[in-house]
Amino acid sequence: MDPDEIKDNIPFTSPVKPVELTLDSEFQFNCHKGVACFNACCKNIDITLTPYDILRLKQQLGMDSKEFVARHTLPFEMDFHGMPGLKMVTKFNTTECTFLTEEGCGVYEDRPAACRYYTLGSMGVRKKGCVEIEDIYFVVKEDHCLGHQEPNKQTVGEYRNNQGIDKYDAMNRAWRDLIIKKRSSGPTIGKPSERSLQLFDMCSYDMDSFREFIRSKGFRGVFDLNQEDMRVLLGDEERLLQFSFRFLKQVLFGEYSIPIKEGAREQRIEQRKAVWAKRREEEVHKC
Ligand code: SF4
Ligand code: SF4
Repeated sequence: MDPDEIKDNIPFTSPVKPVELTLDSEFQFNCHKGVACFNACCKNIDITLTPYDILRLKQQLGMDSKEFVARHTLPFEMDFHGMPGLKMVTKFNTTECTFLTEEGCGVYEDRPAACRYYTLGSMGVRKKGCVEIEDIYFVVKEDHCLGHQEPNKQTVGEYRNNQGIDKYDAMNRAWRDLIIKKRSSGPTIGKPSERSLQLFDMCSYDMDSFREFIRSKGFRGVFDLNQEDMRVLLGDEERLLQFSFRFLKQVLFGEYSIPIKEGAREQRIEQRKAVWAKRREEEVHKC
């Protein structure tokens, strides 16, 4: 989409001030304990969590994925096919983040990507006549945020660096690409099966179950990973997360990057045929 088109399509009431910025553009903003609005932004949240957010937060809180998801998230559907998404829960009967304390964020070192971005929006655009997608940025000004009045100038690149955004973007990129790919394939790809949605859920938000899954006989019977690859994946959750996105790409879109054991695919097809035949037979007997 042309950036000018984006500006034209931004609703009149949007807090977004549509001034296009690059990594080198300067903008004025600072947030610190001394601002009169300190903590205001964390009292009215609507945060969609990414897989890497969940990994960092569950590690910091010393929980496994299931416990973190049960205690700190609410499920929602990211599209009309029911792709599972998770939002951060709020304190009972409020819109306030459960991690907010008097002193500020209680999980600051591992706060989600949305909190790191907060005052910056970004989107990938393909400019007229260009093939490559370019990230553009814009400042988001909410009325309650007084940080924009603070006399501190920085470039977009410096802000991203100070907030540790690069690492979060890098860890979530393959997942974001999967979602974009699913959306852009439109009706041709159809609604994913219930099994595919479950796999997406596990591979995105539940590394503890995914770790058990790749150890299982079923997985090892099909995928050809050597002992060293397995050792690394089982001992490093960040690598495991990246591997889970490769696995999803392979299962959902047939993009093969994980080697398959010789004859395993044919064997699986035969096993499935046998299951379907058994089901058909049971149906006939019921009639
Ligand atoms: S995680 Fe921290 S920064 Fe993010 S909304 Fe909650 S308290 Fe605020
Ligand atoms: S509202 Fe703005 S200035 Fe105030 S605490 Fe939040 S980010 Fe900082």
